[in-house]
Amino acid sequence: MIPRTQVPLRCWAEIDLAALERNLRRIRASLPSFMRYVAVVKADAYGHGLHQVAARLMHAGADLFAVATLSEAAALRELGPGWPILLLSPLVPEEDDYIPRHDVAVTVSSADEVDRFAAAAERAGRKISVHLKIDTGMGRAGVWHETAATVYQKIRDAAGLTLAGIYTHYSSSDDDPAFTAEQRQRFRQALASFDGLDPTSLLIHADNSAGLETIERAGPFNAVRIGLLQFGILPRTGSLLADVHAEPVFSFRTRVGLVKDLPAGTAISYGQTHRLERPSRIAVLTAGYGDGINRLLSNRGAVLIGGRRCPILGRVTMDQTIVDVTHLDTVKSGDEVTLIGHQQGAEISVTEFSTWAETIPWETLCSVTKRVPRLYRTALGV
Ligand SMILES: *Cc1c(COP(=O)(O)O)cnc(C)c1O
Repeated sequence: MIPRTQVPLRCWAEIDLAALERNLRRIRASLPSFMRYVAVVKADAYGHGLHQVAARLMHAGADLFAVATLSEAAALRELGPGWPILLLSPLVPEEDDYIPRHDVAVTVSSADEVDRFAAAAERAGRKISVHLKIDTGMGRAGVWHETAATVYQKIRDAAGLTLAGIYTHYSSSDDDPAFTAEQRQRFRQALASFDGLDPTSLLIHADNSAGLETIERAGPFNAVRIGLLQFGILPRTGSLLADVHAEPVFSFRTRVGLVKDLPAGTAISYGQTHRLERPSRIAVLTAGYGDGINRLLSNRGAVLIGGRRCPILGRVTMDQTIVDVTHLDTVKSGDEVTLIGHQQGAEISVTEFSTWAETIPWETLCSVTKRVPRLYRTALGV
């Protein structure tokens, strides 16, 4: 059923906020009750829409929000005055004075950042909350685990800074449990080297969605940082996290613009990369890579029309995509097409779509463009 909106829809995303809320509750229920839930909502809540997603996760009882940029933090701050927010990515120096203004906690990865943030706190006349990040093998943000104690001490000594948490991030929690265990061990060792540390007074966190597969259910860890799984997507096929029963939140749909019959031998779309082997009926869809249909789906992906799979023919173009509908009984201009999601008992998952696009679900969700309106299903069903 095509939702009714002010402007007729050509391509849209449907976001099931009730499923999002159920997912948070199910993930929580799978964890020890002392585990705090850090909802990762960077990149416009993985393309779902920061405002709507964060509002629903606040309602569902997230403990803290993690974002990547100051503008994301500012948007969240407006939505939830007083709600704890953590900035995960490094800042450029010109951003420092915005930290106290938006009352966000920042990630510290170096002694230099301690000095910068302490100076910003002094200029603002208020304390800045920080989470110390330890690099246990990701090789991105964080202070290298073997030298983390000096930065820890420097934070403790800085009058303007309050240490609120310590964390690390896994590089391979979806495919290398042995290295993940090594990272956990390095993290624990680093904590053991910190003078006068009381982990129970801080948020100690490491696990992203995939980390939950091998999570340690006892201290020092007392929080998790969840992105993908709360949107109902498993971090890998065959994941143990299937037991959580998280449901897909995101559907991606478009419509049939034109149906026509073409003779065998006709080339389809730019570059003539597909030639019809038999007389065929094709449908021209009202979406293309300008909406987020990755061009790698050319001659490879499929869509659902009337619950049946229809292969993409030729190259995906900016605004239009051509599919084979010869095998369908009826298809007409205006029909609904599912690019990602369920339709009449059939499904194309974000994961399958991502495989066609030679990418990961995270990138697929971030690649749905601004042109695509997000429609929210808000029913309260829990
Ligand atoms: C994005 C991100 C997460 C969330 O990861 P998911 O795999 O989506 O659950 C957690 N921690 C950090 C530091 C991140 O950048």
